[in-house]
Amino acid sequence: MLPAFDPLRSSAVSLDVVAVTRASAAAVRERQKTRLAALLEAAAAGSALYRRRLARAAPAATPLAEIAPTTKRELMERFDEWVTDPKLGLDALRRFTVDPRRIGQPFLGRYAVWESSGSSGEPAMFVQDARSLAVYDALEAFRRPSLRPMLQHWWDPWGLTERRAFVGATGGHFASTVSVERLRRLNPWTAATVRGFSFLQTTADLVAQLNAYAPTVIATYPTAALLLAEEAADGRLRIAPQEIWTGGEALTAAVRRFVADSFHCAVSNSYGASEFLALASECRCGALHLNSDWVILESVDAQGRAVPPGETGSKTLLTNLANHVQPLIRYELGDRITIAAQPCRCGSPLPTIEVEGRIDDALLLNDDSGHTVRLLPLALTTVLEDVAGVYDFQLVQESDHSLLLRVAANGDAGRRELHSARDALGAYLRRQGLADVELHAHCGERCSCGRSGKVQRVVGLH
Ligand SMILES: [Zn+2]
Repeated sequence: MLPAFDPLRSSAVSLDVVAVTRASAAAVRERQKTRLAALLEAAAAGSALYRRRLARAAPAATPLAEIAPTTKRELMERFDEWVTDPKLGLDALRRFTVDPRRIGQPFLGRYAVWESSGSSGEPAMFVQDARSLAVYDALEAFRRPSLRPMLQHWWDPWGLTERRAFVGATGGHFASTVSVERLRRLNPWTAATVRGFSFLQTTADLVAQLNAYAPTVIATYPTAALLLAEEAADGRLRIAPQEIWTGGEALTAAVRRFVADSFHCAVSNSYGASEFLALASECRCGALHLNSDWVILESVDAQGRAVPPGETGSKTLLTNLANHVQPLIRYELGDRITIAAQPCRCGSPLPTIEVEGRIDDALLLNDDSGHTVRLLPLALTTVLEDVAGVYDFQLVQESDHSLLLRVAANGDAGRRELHSARDALGAYLRRQGLADVELHAHCGERCSCGRSGKVQRVVGLH
């Protein structure tokens, strides 16, 4: 079965995405205004949840600032009232996403579906129609900076000689994995040009697979890029990628430099979320440009009031202008952002933002033979959230051979979570050659927040 795709819409959206990069800021605002009105119209018509929040007389004209913000928890609890297609039942979606063979397949023949355990607790279910997928595809394809000389693209404009490796959690219905699988199913002739590699396996196995595949492009998280760069610097990983794309976590200048130096290639960072895949990408000046023709991000303080450009808010509200089937209007995103006060010197009409990304640490532990093993924070959170089903936790490294797991739940629920967390984490540690690592665990303990106010889920030795 073919994945959700609308070739005519895709072409039109792609042309517009390219045109906007050369348009004026006023032209971007005009598109945003028209698309917001269309979204509010669709939400008022199909979503009982939003209908109550919008002005009754003229819902499409409701000023955005007057619409009450929503949270993941509220939307998931009222899923049936949220979605605009009544055929989208949460139970059926859950049955669909427990089957790994269906990753990237269309749901009801026309929707892409992914889950997000996310950085802020309970898992959510996101459904995309062909319209929003066309927007994400176009933004991913046409707003990424060109990291290589034109000549290299000229003889292979479709990238058919590329081998793109995605390194991440490949076993579940997550946004990145569904996107990779969807691309593979969409264009069988390009299936060989994109492949996912799990970061839950041992580093030695991951390195062996990448050596065999010899990717020309690697897309991954900064902590995983750092692990691969160390493997390359030590001579075990022998690949020559020409581009490294990172996202999903904070990328520090030092990590970027080390990764670029280890692979002798350019590194480009981007910002995306399960709620909107391609939020922002870097320009040649190194600034992150928000795709504000298709998504609105509002930086607000703890009371929900807008903060001025140049200041960091405590929360970010997202409005997805592309997705009408599952409207996200002033939805609380976990990250904190700063919207720049000045336009970028690259000349783009799109505003630039800075993001306080995930701040989890990698853990360095000693294996059975005394070697240091680096455990990636996103691999650890994937094991705890998606294998063990524990969402409110903190994993703290106590020494080079012991870990402390704190689980917020109390009583019977807490003990159940500890039990499944011990099973899942124990199995993962054994696979990494870390069977001797001690795991201490307590339930009913509040998890301390990091500097950003977000819980740091994985805390290394400092
Ligand atoms: Zn720029």
